[in-house]
Amino acid sequence: MSESLLEVENLHTTFGTERGDVHAVDGISFRVEEGEVFGIVGESGSGKSVTALSIMGLVDAPGRVDADAIRYRGENLLDASENEMQSIRGGEIAMIFQDPMSSLNPVMTVGEQIAEVARHHGDYGESTDFLSEMKRKYVTGTATGSRSWQRAVELLDTVGIPDPEQRAQEYPHQLSGGMKQRVMIAQALAAEPSVIVADEPTTALDVTIEAQILDELLSLRDEFGVSVVLITHDLAVVRETCDRVAVMYAGELMETAPTRTLFEHPSHPYTNGLLKSIPKVNDDREWLDSIEGNVPDLIDKPAGCPFRDRCDSAFELCQKPLVSYPGEGVDHEVRCHLYNDAVEVDGDEAVAVADDATEIIEQRSDAGRPVGGESL
Ligand code: ADP
Ligand code: MG
Repeated sequence: MSESLLEVENLHTTFGTERGDVHAVDGISFRVEEGEVFGIVGESGSGKSVTALSIMGLVDAPGRVDADAIRYRGENLLDASENEMQSIRGGEIAMIFQDPMSSLNPVMTVGEQIAEVARHHGDYGESTDFLSEMKRKYVTGTATGSRSWQRAVELLDTVGIPDPEQRAQEYPHQLSGGMKQRVMIAQALAAEPSVIVADEPTTALDVTIEAQILDELLSLRDEFGVSVVLITHDLAVVRETCDRVAVMYAGELMETAPTRTLFEHPSHPYTNGLLKSIPKVNDDREWLDSIEGNVPDLIDKPAGCPFRDRCDSAFELCQKPLVSYPGEGVDHEVRCHLYNDAVEVDGDEAVAVADDATEIIEQRSDAGRPVGGESL
């Protein structure tokens, strides 16, 4: 079995609150391959951002991250010191946040912000000690003739910003939302990462700019072999950009598949509900209009499938903990007991055959994680 670039095994992230523990991420496993665009799709509150922050080591108290492993190039990040995590965040796994203003510094030019990251991660022959950086920040600015500045301009050009020499000297507030999002991507690239985790990078943008930014991310993959974890609530975005995708609901993964397989053979009832709710042209339906009911309370989360109360196909086995079953084609996992071999579906009615179904569930939950590992 070859090693994947990034492997998340049985991740649980919990926030202690006055009302009780919020199980924001509740036992998810997935892998991301080199040069792959991996999508995580789910409606708001399903745990996508918390998953990203958990990988990056950015979950603060009262949050707790617990996992069998979060491996990057075979090293378990859970064993890394804060110093090591800082250097991984800078140079190996970069994150792009949904809101550019939360991570761009309003009082520094965008060129300065990119040049600073470049200096700290590449060999530019420019001093990066604290005093030198302070002087650049507050007195001189990065010399426009320096290599790190040239690199910043080059990166602005790479992410499709017109007139990059001029733009580099502007402040974030002088740029449009789409431009700021590009600056964030340029800043992430300055660190020469192997993985970019992009958390709804285009949600605030109009569709034309969204398409341009997504194109840009794809071309980075094609040019530099960067892997991208693309977090989105939009299955249409997934279809256009991702190689593989995991469908997330209430902190759990419902289905993982190559994108094409997911659209050709959607298997989990939740995935099917999502597909029905993709807006068509001239259609202003809300997300998930076609699935009735509410997301379960993440504090008193019932055991078993978190979707069962909203699921038309629910039957007695849905009280049992979820396990993965093989779906159609390679690398397709469905966490739904309808796919248990001892379950027969007759019309709308699913029936578990004797104790065999339970035995299969127990075997599959013992199989080790990730449960679909046999397909690697
Ligand atoms: P998504 O990104 O899919 O919209 P999130 O990952 O942001 O969802 O959140 C998942 C769940 O975790 C939500 O119910 C959210 O309220 C909860 N959550 C996130 N951060 C915290 C926190 N710091 N304290 C308590 N609950 C949190
Ligand atoms: Mg989010």
